[in-house]
Amino acid sequence: MEMDRMDENDWKYHEEGNKSLVVCHVQHCRVLRLLKYPAEDSENPPQEVVRLPLEFVRQLSIKIQHQRPAWRCDKVMDIYSGCALCLPNLTTPTQYQPTATPPICIEIKPKWGFLPSSKHVSRDIKTRVCRYCMHQHYKVANGKWKRRSLYCPLDLFSGNRQRMHFAIRHLIEEPQNNFKVFKGGQCIYSSKEGSEGSPDMNALLHHLRPYFLRGNNRVNGHMTAKAVLNDFIQVLVNALLSPAGGDGGPLTHRAPEGRSFCEASLFSNERVRHGSQGLPSSSVLSRILQTQMLDALDIEGLYPLYCRVEQHLQDFPKDRTRLQIDGPYDQNFLENVQKSSMEDDGSVEYAAAKVHQYRIAMTAKDCSIMAALVPSVKEEDDDEGLSSQKHLRDFRPQAFSSSVSILDLDPKPLDSIPRQLRLDQKIVACYLRTGGALP
Ligand code: ATP
Ligand code: MG
Ligand code: ZN
Ligand code: MG
Repeated sequence: MEMDRMDENDWKYHEEGNKSLVVCHVQHCRVLRLLKYPAEDSENPPQEVVRLPLEFVRQLSIKIQHQRPAWRCDKVMDIYSGCALCLPNLTTPTQYQPTATPPICIEIKPKWGFLPSSKHVSRDIKTRVCRYCMHQHYKVANGKWKRRSLYCPLDLFSGNRQRMHFAIRHLIEEPQNNFKVFKGGQCIYSSKEGSEGSPDMNALLHHLRPYFLRGNNRVNGHMTAKAVLNDFIQVLVNALLSPAGGDGGPLTHRAPEGRSFCEASLFSNERVRHGSQGLPSSSVLSRILQTQMLDALDIEGLYPLYCRVEQHLQDFPKDRTRLQIDGPYDQNFLENVQKSSMEDDGSVEYAAAKVHQYRIAMTAKDCSIMAALVPSVKEEDDDEGLSSQKHLRDFRPQAFSSSVSILDLDPKPLDSIPRQLRLDQKIVACYLRTGGALP
């Protein structure tokens, strides 16, 4: 990218989260991820990757303002630092010709996929009902969303196709900020208006229908809405269970399912007892889950260690660098985190390693998965078409290839830990007061 030739007209509004706003290039498969901060705040500590001309950023922020959802406008785009992340646009994978059928990309923010088993957990309910399901009651009680989502992450992370199917169906029904669908780079399905009503599922099915009529042995080219939805979810489940590339262990190995059923999930207990195999260890879900489980102490067990680190830093401020409290999150950092000892020897090093592990786990609890589904090239083109795209996996029955990526991997700041403890207490209290008592 030539920074001196940046023109806001080449970029358009794409999407935004709580922390950043993303614009995409109108031609090239690139996005710019810009930071945001509370509208009344003037301080911002950006993580710089590309430097942009301030005039470009200013014009861009004016140009896209009217496209931003109102519920996200409590924060303004950072127009002062001139810094942004420049990333590949994961909703328009480059390897597909623009003339071909546009890929369908599904973004899932799966959240916490396990129940804590730490001895430090003080409330029994936390070992029976998952954090996401409890948090839903809190969010509805506080007016963040009008309706509770019946999605349960433990079902998605189960590796059991029926449970995963069930989880995704509930993500579709109440997407909140956990589910989006893009077609050819354009968002066609999401909870746009925060607490407003559900998005139009018929419109989604209308978009999806042509993708599932092809090569699917459907007589007369007719499919009921339910069949389209089922096929779509099945293809997505396949993509999520496929190997995510890299060194993820043997393909056939599956992590045991363990104590991973949430009492708040509507998926019947009875069905769960049969035929659960756990996640293939090379799948993207398994990797996210393993990383989330670095939070082995739970916030309740971690908090005293956080206090030990804080106390130490007050006494020895210079150790902030040695303990890599503010990064850099490099190889050395990861090695230290991995070789951290199991036993608490009372040292600040032990406490810092546990705090780092917790922060990495928090990042994995907040990241998103982007699954790109591409209708397979026709039989005759197979040899040439697929040989150059080896990393795409083929699901012949559904005639789709998929590639799965992870996004939104921001490191979480140290000072978010006390907030996490308070939030945990509030969520549990609210659940015991309202949700736990409801049928
Ligand atoms: P959160 O509130 O979930 O923490 P965030 O503010 O950290 O979100 P991101 O999730 O990184 O921001 O980005 C916001 C949205 O922009 C994403 O949900 C996704 O829809 C879109 N997006 C982000 N990065 C990319 C990318 N590389 N390609 C395509 N779309 C992207
Ligand atoms: Mg996000
Ligand atoms: Zn749950
Ligand atoms: Mg984020």
